[in-house]
Amino acid sequence: PHSRLDGMKEAHELAAKLYSYILMNTGAGVQALTYLETRGFPRQSLVEFGLGYAPKGSDTLVRFLRRRGFAESLLVEAGLAVDVGGRVMDRFRDRVMVPIRNLQGQVIGFGGRALAPDAKPKYLNSPESPLFRKSEVLFHLDAARRQIRKLGTAVLMEGYMDVIAASRAGVTNAVASMGTSLTEQHAQLLKRYAERVILAYDGDEAGIQAAKRALDVLEQAGLSVQVALFPEGEDPDDFIRARGERAFQRYLQSNAWTEVQFLLQDLRRNANLESMSGKMAFLRGALEVLAQRATPIEQDAEIRELAREFEVSVDALKEELSQLAKTLP
Ligand code: ATP
Ligand code: MN
Ligand code: MN
Ligand code: MN
Repeated sequence: PHSRLDGMKEAHELAAKLYSYILMNTGAGVQALTYLETRGFPRQSLVEFGLGYAPKGSDTLVRFLRRRGFAESLLVEAGLAVDVGGRVMDRFRDRVMVPIRNLQGQVIGFGGRALAPDAKPKYLNSPESPLFRKSEVLFHLDAARRQIRKLGTAVLMEGYMDVIAASRAGVTNAVASMGTSLTEQHAQLLKRYAERVILAYDGDEAGIQAAKRALDVLEQAGLSVQVALFPEGEDPDDFIRARGERAFQRYLQSNAWTEVQFLLQDLRRNANLESMSGKMAFLRGALEVLAQRATPIEQDAEIRELAREFEVSVDALKEELSQLAKTLP
């Protein structure tokens, strides 16, 4: 018996093969291959991750799969094709194709990266389907989970290009969510293999905000979280290209902040420490973070630091903290 879902998986498997073949072995793939080389991805990464290229033609994949007996309606339902007024055409055209796999390693979707720097949208992902549920999939978890379990630690990134670059740099316990914010299901999935998650999101405002949200979701699931924020405007892939693999590994190890440090730093960024009222507001916020999130040792260490910086007494801060703690649930 052959279910519709099995048919969709088979279609994805064949699509990945076709895209990969076109990238690696045909003239149509040369431009995409050059693009990936320019981005610094060696052949080995392309093979390891099964990267491909969806050509410019309007129905290359649809014709390929139709010949192999796949119904057009199935291709549309699987998100590989689109129905434009009765004409079934390829969804992905002129894009670098990144296969997304489930835990069994079966291809269930694609991320498609446009070649042109100004193309819109830059990324086109497979749509939600019975096969592909973004909220339940983490890119590369199938291959990374053994290493994650071994280390007890997963590195969570924003983009698949970051994960591919990290793997090349020897960081093989990295995964990415699929361009959606992190869900409780994602956290539960990570919890199966990891005790600790290092958030390695992009070093921009969007990345910081996303990291704050992800942090809460991961904590809720009982994972311990650290945050490695990259320099302004850089993501892990940029960082590796600019500074090298060793620097990247070191950065993840020594620049990963604890949750408390990250939240305090975030408050600091948005505080006006020039004015007295700004200072007081910052201190209140900081004490709230400590009351809600810090262990007694962290509270003690941070309070000493704050007392020194703001020239207030340790006792006064401790008193405030214990007052605050009483008002919290
Ligand atoms: P680049 O290829 O330029 O290095 P990136 O991997 O740094 O891209 P970001 O723009 O930082 O990508 O976005 C991170 C992730 O968010 C992407 O990998 C992709 O999964 C998702 N994403 C970004 N833009 C879109 C979009 N327009 N539609 C769907 N998903 C997107
Ligand atoms: Mn980004
Ligand atoms: Mn990015
Ligand atoms: Mn990038």
